[in-house]
Amino acid sequence: MTALKNLITHFDQIWPPEQAEDWDRPGLLLGSLDRDVLKVLVSVDCTEKVILEAIEMGADLLVSHHPLFLRGVTALPEQSFKGRLTAKAIRANLAIFAAHTNADFQTDGVGESLAKAIGLSKLEPLDLLTQHGTVGSLPEPMSLMKFARLLAKTLPAVSAGVKVSGDPDRLVKRVGLLAGAGDSYLNVALEADIDVFVTSDLRHHPAQDFISQSNISNGPALIDIAHFSAEWLWVDVAAAQLQKKFPDVEFVGSELNTDPWDFAVMQ
Ligand SMILES: [Zn+2]
Repeated sequence: MTALKNLITHFDQIWPPEQAEDWDRPGLLLGSLDRDVLKVLVSVDCTEKVILEAIEMGADLLVSHHPLFLRGVTALPEQSFKGRLTAKAIRANLAIFAAHTNADFQTDGVGESLAKAIGLSKLEPLDLLTQHGTVGSLPEPMSLMKFARLLAKTLPAVSAGVKVSGDPDRLVKRVGLLAGAGDSYLNVALEADIDVFVTSDLRHHPAQDFISQSNISNGPALIDIAHFSAEWLWVDVAAAQLQKKFPDVEFVGSELNTDPWDFAVMQ
């Protein structure tokens, strides 16, 4: 049994809150620092299903990547979904902590978990200015098609699959990654010494501009994976990392798929 405040002291070391983006709101969202913690669920999202999963397994704490509250809240009536989730968590005495952009580019963080899962080595930041993103090398060059299949096999299955822009026979070895929404790093990726850039949540115009520019400058191919998939590999890595530090507490990675899309149809 460990007091929540002792866990949080460690969380703040491995996921320093001062390294979060200005707009981000990681940290303790609900719960008392003095309470004891025996069981912790680690997840990507903080949805109703995840909160129920935590309550049903008897967890005392949920560590989720995405914060439940990111913008100001002035009321939490239970007919709103956030009010409902908050009430459920408080009634079940479930504390909630978020490790978000401050967990993205740490050792065993969200970016590194994805990079290692697909076998990249010699990891370095994509953007030296912000330390965001990860660049690494595959053990050997492979076709873009084979690499896309490797991603699809490594990541949890989601309805959108893995979307690829580029010649399927093109050889790739150096891979740039940005787990989560990567629109704002497309320009950095164009300048980087990589063969393919993998990220999530790409909109039509930024993706099209990237491809057009990449065609002129012999830049990287582009792969769009689901936001949930990109970040889900981290939950087991984080649970194992915390388990080592706190052997008296049980840490479990959530098995739930919280991708918002249930299915896709093709013509
Ligand atoms: Zn995210």
